[in-house]
Amino acid sequence: MTFDSLGLDSRILSALKKQGYKTPTPIQAQSIPLLLNGQDLLGTAQTGTGKTAAFTIPILQQILKSPSKKRRIRALVVTPTRELAIQIAENAKWYSADTPLRTAVIFGGVGQNPQIDQLKKGIDFLVATPGRLLDLHSQGHINLNDLNHFVLDEADQMLDMGFIHDIRKLLKIIPPKRQSLFFSATMPKDIISLSKQILQVNYKQIRIAVEKRTADRVSQAVYYVAKKEKPSMLLELLKTMEGSVLVFGRTKHGCDKVVRILNKKGVKAAAIHGNKSQNARQKALKSFKAGELKVLVATDIAARGIDISGLEHVVNYELPNIAETYVHRIGRTGRADSSGASVSLCAADEREYLKEIEKLIKASIPLVEDHPFTAGAAQEWSDPENRKPKKPGQRPPRRNRPKVNEGRNIHRRPKKRR
Ligand code: AMP
Repeated sequence: MTFDSLGLDSRILSALKKQGYKTPTPIQAQSIPLLLNGQDLLGTAQTGTGKTAAFTIPILQQILKSPSKKRRIRALVVTPTRELAIQIAENAKWYSADTPLRTAVIFGGVGQNPQIDQLKKGIDFLVATPGRLLDLHSQGHINLNDLNHFVLDEADQMLDMGFIHDIRKLLKIIPPKRQSLFFSATMPKDIISLSKQILQVNYKQIRIAVEKRTADRVSQAVYYVAKKEKPSMLLELLKTMEGSVLVFGRTKHGCDKVVRILNKKGVKAAAIHGNKSQNARQKALKSFKAGELKVLVATDIAARGIDISGLEHVVNYELPNIAETYVHRIGRTGRADSSGASVSLCAADEREYLKEIEKLIKASIPLVEDHPFTAGAAQEWSDPENRKPKKPGQRPPRRNRPKVNEGRNIHRRPKKRR
């Protein structure tokens, strides 16, 4: 299949050519014809599969085909994080660059006035995080009455971040007659039940088994390292890695600590996580993408879905305690059919996490046994106290879950009764 055979507007086709897209990815080939037909869609897919274009292109095409005299919001994409919102809007702008359509992005953590000014000028395609969207709507700056296309992106992450109430509120303010698209990387029961509230009964379903594909494309290795020797191991590894390296930590505090260690040793590094201001996060991401920073250290929430083209290395400085997260992490490299490499540093108390990951990807990750820190790892392992894992494969307890306010205004969070 080619893009030409999909009957798309010539202005969109020329934009795709400019982006270097030659053939549709599997999710695009499956979803574009369905969506052009006006169908609702339930997609099990995550970023890295070409998902953004899969929903953006057919929506733009439909808006172009039924132009309205007055500019009004015709499509709304709601996504959990600011980074993802910015990225989706950027893509929509690329694909519609040769058309008169206007895209805007709104998210919390920054001043609202520039966003309001943009909305006032008139927008066709809006990308938003839930908190700021509802906020600006309640202030009367957003009119969703003419909405024809609604996309809920990364639904599982949305629920993990506590956005369920916002989504329910949102469903009350968008027109019931609309095309709805629902994407989630995983489909647990609560996500399926939410999708049923959003989609029409005759929706179509597409499942892209990205987990296995990503894991196949990315070369993987694991090093057993004592916890206290991880900084030295990371510095050793960085010497051998050309280009940019995305390092994952489990906690915000842990990420900052890694950055401090790296900076001390002269490695240009910055962290992105929920405690950083939006501007600091964007600045770090921009410098990293521009190659000015060697290392970006991130928490899972801050990094999920961000697209860094040409990223070759991912380091799991700490292994995630949810196996699926590992797949999301290594999916930051090896994007859109390029190759990548992932290295994991595994301390004694993380070996159970490793087992869970290997079970999920149905493969064992090659162990590198020849490195300078094997003695420390063996010593750490010899003490049974050090080996106690923190319940592998289980979701972290509520208090360790991503904060509800990540991606939204903290002052608007409803207080929970004790
Ligand atoms: P996404 O899953 O939407 O984050 O896309 C992952 C990456 O693949 C982005 O850098 C896209 O620009 C790129 N991409 C999407 N569709 C195609 C395509 N058909 N051909 C080449 N690259 C693509």
